[in-house]
Amino acid sequence: MNDLRELYQEVIFDHNRNPRNFGKLEAANRHAEGFNPLCGDELTLYMIVDKSGIIADIRFEGHGCAISKASASIMTETLKGKSVADAHAYFDSFHAMATGDDDIDTELPDAEKLEVLSGVRSYPARVKCATLAWHTARAAIDGGSDPVTTE
Ligand code: ZN
Repeated sequence: MNDLRELYQEVIFDHNRNPRNFGKLEAANRHAEGFNPLCGDELTLYMIVDKSGIIADIRFEGHGCAISKASASIMTETLKGKSVADAHAYFDSFHAMATGDDDIDTELPDAEKLEVLSGVRSYPARVKCATLAWHTARAAIDGGSDPVTTE
């Protein structure tokens, strides 16, 4: 278990140092802003959702702690190429894992990557850091224009 924790931490550090899909997406047709006042994490999420409801591209920018940045980075990797309907299923599974004792739903393709963030459930103050990107993604998909706050 300790080895696993260490491995998870390495993955989180790597995504924090070298976030995937980082930057503005000029052609985005969905976007949302998220803010976690508890920690000061802020991010803007951009998506291109095509006519068939597939997330053709997804990017984020912003600043925050390692957990929030790593979570956003891993989320964009996971959701790229998935349908918006699937994105809701990933959201539900991730949320259940981060806030409770549920394991990630491994029936969802690539979802096992998200397990690296399961450790946050032991640290209530970090749960919002990990879920911020997901709440923001859901807001972008649902087309809300108000910024998302975890409070
Ligand atoms: Zn944070």
